[in-house]
Amino acid sequence: MENQQKAGKIGMVSLGCPKALVDSERILTQLKVEGYEVVPSYEMADIVVVNTCGFIDSAVQESLDAIGEALRENGKVIVTGCLGAKQDASGGNLIAGLHPKVLAVTGPHAADEVMQAVHTHLPRPHDPFVDLVPDHGVKLTPKHYAYLKISEGCNHRCSFCIIPSMRGDLVSRPIGEVMREAESLVKSGVKELLVVSQDTSAYGVDLKYRTDFVNGRPVKTRFAELVQELGELGVWVRLHYVYPYPHVDEVLGLMADNKVLPYLDVPFQHSHPDILKRMKRPASGEKNIERIAAWRKICPSLTIRSTFISGFPGETEEEFQHLKAFLEEAKLDRVGVFAYSPVEGATANQLPNPVEEAVREERRRQLMELQEGISFQCQKAKVGTRQKVIVDAVSGEGVLGRSMADAPEIDGHVHMPKPAKTWLRPKVGDIVTVKVSGHDAYDLFGDIV
Ligand code: SF4
Repeated sequence: MENQQKAGKIGMVSLGCPKALVDSERILTQLKVEGYEVVPSYEMADIVVVNTCGFIDSAVQESLDAIGEALRENGKVIVTGCLGAKQDASGGNLIAGLHPKVLAVTGPHAADEVMQAVHTHLPRPHDPFVDLVPDHGVKLTPKHYAYLKISEGCNHRCSFCIIPSMRGDLVSRPIGEVMREAESLVKSGVKELLVVSQDTSAYGVDLKYRTDFVNGRPVKTRFAELVQELGELGVWVRLHYVYPYPHVDEVLGLMADNKVLPYLDVPFQHSHPDILKRMKRPASGEKNIERIAAWRKICPSLTIRSTFISGFPGETEEEFQHLKAFLEEAKLDRVGVFAYSPVEGATANQLPNPVEEAVREERRRQLMELQEGISFQCQKAKVGTRQKVIVDAVSGEGVLGRSMADAPEIDGHVHMPKPAKTWLRPKVGDIVTVKVSGHDAYDLFGDIV
């Protein structure tokens, strides 16, 4: 070992959505495969990689601040991620213009380019510790849950969104590859898989649902087949970013049969057909109230999470009231509302009759207030029931977990006291049964039984 070159040390700052997190994990995995050491501070690092987000203005600012901090504290910085793909007003690269000292800039989903930049500035160590890296790579999420990215990019062109211009059209991973990753994660102890993409229900469209092989069996690269296969792994499977297309009905039966979690994250964004048209939303012509009722008929325990935008350009009082009435009728379990924020480069900014900022905010407040009452009632209905709960943390004071209705980072928690009986005390990642005794609008309280 004497002749072995000292491993280069890399620091990583990861910002942005779960999809960006998966990109960071790919880069970290490759760094480890090649023998680089990943370190937790600017001082220890030879180079810092900053994975940025460019979705809304506050995320852009956070990313720019992170780059500035890394340059100040370390000096050698490689930038990747969505913001890296953005142009400035003169058509040059935004980051390179603002921070000329940055060593290299790449767009999202560019682990290879990031590695090339790392090699240029910090040569690859001589002896890669390939064997030390698990099959499924390095994960940034806690060990008991993991994001599973099934595709990249998007074929839609929603007028408020610039993701397709940064990440390109939909590119699905063949089902065999996705399932190999999922199986490897389960083998390593993951108890909950969170399926993410920009448009999960469109999975496989770009590949014309091509047949691939899962453990030697021919299986189509298609949404319903993927959910079916994941449902056989014996872990919690949670579906994010599903649009309300008719073919989504096919997986509701799997939810009713407890194969996958009865949970759908469906970003409706609005209810009024004219606004949805102006937003150029996928599935904008669907009758969503009827679709939700049909889903609940097949799977009564279904939890629906959604996000909405208030004050989209041209939103009239009548259209806003339509959205309020929709929320009242749909009684969605989990709702996030964002006041419209013009994203640089989004076509929605050119739409006539923009709504004043104060009105956008006030409408957001009203929707959140309305939803709080609805969420409170949904939670109240669970008091006295028994719920399966996955344990996220155990401390001296108690146990924190999530029910099937709670996705990590975005939904609520279940709070439990530490059981007096030692054999009932769980470990992180255990799935326990909890008798619910209390609630607020977002969280549940109860005892492990
Ligand atoms: S579906 Fe619309 S909001 Fe989502 S990534 Fe595609 S263009 Fe953007």
